[in-house]
Amino acid sequence: MNFEELNLNRRLLASVDDLGYTNPTPIQEQAIPVALEGRDLLGLAQTGTGKTASFMLPILQRLLTGPLGPVRALIVAPTRELAEQIHQTAIDLGKNTKIRSVAIYGGVSKVTQAKALNRGADIVVACPGRLLDHVNDRSINLSKVEVLVLDEADTMCDMGFLPDVRRVIAQLPRKRQTLFFAATMPDEIRGLSKDILDNPTTVQIGIIAPAKTVSHSLYPVTDALKKQLMMDMLRQTPTGRVIIFTRTKHRARGLAKDLEQAKYRVAALQGNMSQNRRQQSINGFREGKYDVLVATDLAARGIDVTEVSHVINFDMPNTVDAYIHRIGRTGRAEQTGEAFTISVPEDEPLVRKIEAVLGSRIERRRLPDFDYGAFSTDRQPSRDRPRSRRPFPSRRPMRLAQNGR
Ligand code: AMP
Repeated sequence: MNFEELNLNRRLLASVDDLGYTNPTPIQEQAIPVALEGRDLLGLAQTGTGKTASFMLPILQRLLTGPLGPVRALIVAPTRELAEQIHQTAIDLGKNTKIRSVAIYGGVSKVTQAKALNRGADIVVACPGRLLDHVNDRSINLSKVEVLVLDEADTMCDMGFLPDVRRVIAQLPRKRQTLFFAATMPDEIRGLSKDILDNPTTVQIGIIAPAKTVSHSLYPVTDALKKQLMMDMLRQTPTGRVIIFTRTKHRARGLAKDLEQAKYRVAALQGNMSQNRRQQSINGFREGKYDVLVATDLAARGIDVTEVSHVINFDMPNTVDAYIHRIGRTGRAEQTGEAFTISVPEDEPLVRKIEAVLGSRIERRRLPDFDYGAFSTDRQPSRDRPRSRRPFPSRRPMRLAQNGR
């Protein structure tokens, strides 16, 4: 199938072409016709499948007819990064139209946002908390909303946003189209979808599982050797852009510093950084100023960088969902990627759950030439163990030839 067959307006087809999309992705093929007919949709798809365009193109097509000025489409997303990215997609795909999009999220000036809303916004892409602030301030009018999109609804649930999301929905006209996207369907999310969707068409891309284009491997090791293993892993592996995930902000910051000392071009991305600094890290990573991004789960939600060759889980995530989201950063848009997970014995129960979702066992690997005997862990409790003092390697990761840079 090609985009012409989707009956999209010429102006939208021109921007699709400019973005270099040649064929619709599977979710676009299935979701766009449903959304264009004005029906409700339950999209079970993870980030990286092209789902943003799958709701943005039908929204833009709808807004091409009817008045411009009032907010007619509202997209609610869990994080600023994701909201910013969806807003950018609205700009890119809507560039040949007069449709305006405004992004609304916390951590930046509310006044500037209120002014932008006042100038007129047809599409609003918002995080729930700040959106409710604007509702309370009466700087936004949601009474003309025709389409609601909830993106990464499962993430919103994980982050405790569901009460806010329900408050937002209470502000909207009952008669509207609702497009609901989630990568996983925990009970609470299933409940919400039942409450707000009217006879929806379900579109599911593959099983609700990580992208098939990612290969997974596990590097079992003891806690004391994790950092050294990761350093050696980076040194030995020809990588393109790499995202390393840690469980805490503190660890993300520390690891980024260690990598910087080892002469890697690295940036951190964690919740204690200002919105500006976070954006600088993401932009720098996207533009190739940094090869390595060390991130926590929440800060990394929605990062859209297509050429991520490797995701390294320095710490195992807390849940299967978080694992799926993390590795969704690589293997995007039908490229291939690798997910390396450094695991300690306590991670085994979660590993088994992940394997159940993947439907296969994750290959256990040993890093060649790595000294697994260093700092034997059997003798002393972990906090008393000596820390690695071995000098870090001073090489940057090699780039994959196919990255062409
Ligand atoms: P998403 O799942 O919306 O975050 O999209 C993942 C990536 O795929 C983004 O970088 C999009 O720009 C890209 N993308 C979306 N649709 C297409 C398409 N039809 N062809 C190629 N790339 C696409």
